[in-house]
Amino acid sequence: MASQAGKRYQCGQCGAQVVVTRGGTGDLGCCAGTMELVGSGTTAPASKGKNLQLGKRYKCDECGAEVLVTKSGEGPLTCHGEMVLQEPKKMATSD
Ligand SMILES: [Zn+2]
Ligand SMILES: [Zn+2]
Repeated sequence: MASQAGKRYQCGQCGAQVVVTRGGTGDLGCCAGTMELVGSGTTAPASKGKNLQLGKRYKCDECGAEVLVTKSGEGPLTCHGEMVLQEPKKMATSD
């Protein structure tokens, strides 16, 4: 199941929740399982773990999918492989 921009996914094991900021072709996973699509009737599991931090962005190098962590969790987040933490862009310093 491909990820679509604007969709939310959560991990039933660690409670991590992400919102897709850029869709991709892979299955989003976490804690070695597949993340579930968050809908209106979805119950949010208790959040545990601290590897995934609120506000961090992760990207799949293979398909370009990007997610934003909206609830902390254990991770690691996976798509075609382990997703890569995107460092915030540094302001170009001009002297
Ligand atoms: Zn997880
Ligand atoms: Zn991918």
